[in-house]
Amino acid sequence: MEDILRELPNKAKEKHAENKKFFSKLKKKPPKNLDYVMQELHHEEFERTDCLECANCCKTTGPLFTNADVERIAKHFRMKPSQFIDTYLRVDEENDYVLQSVPCTFLGADNYCSIYEVRPKACREFPHTDRKKFQQISNLTLKNVAICPAAFNIVEAMKKSIKI
Ligand code: SF4
Ligand code: SF4
Repeated sequence: MEDILRELPNKAKEKHAENKKFFSKLKKKPPKNLDYVMQELHHEEFERTDCLECANCCKTTGPLFTNADVERIAKHFRMKPSQFIDTYLRVDEENDYVLQSVPCTFLGADNYCSIYEVRPKACREFPHTDRKKFQQISNLTLKNVAICPAAFNIVEAMKKSIKI
């Protein structure tokens, strides 16, 4: 996995123009069964990928924390939401709550998430490759293929299986 993660940013860079072109076509004319195809590709990839061997998303980017996330996680720690925010979060350029630093402070040395049961919604959904109307998050996906080896593979499989 270490080699895969080391090479991933360069591989994503090499594919960037091709991926951008593909997503631009996909946005204009998404196939009717796109949601179904994405579910299949997502599940096939995550049968092969063990996130516990990777954790690159937790190590290199953090999630956004919604107000509901803050309340739930603060409650888990028996903290007030404001105390949780002061301890762990900051407001980014887009006015969202994000982690003060990465790797995520809740990630263990064994790659387990110490707040797994109450983790942010964005963590549960990453890399969003089973999202409905997937064509609508192409800009995000273009970035995620450089972080997430599973997302990279899913986009490669998409280009093979969806003819547009
Ligand atoms: S979601 Fe992607 S980046 Fe995160 S641990 Fe799994 S394979 Fe790695
Ligand atoms: S909260 Fe958990 S799943 Fe989310 S980035 Fe941190 S360690 Fe990863």
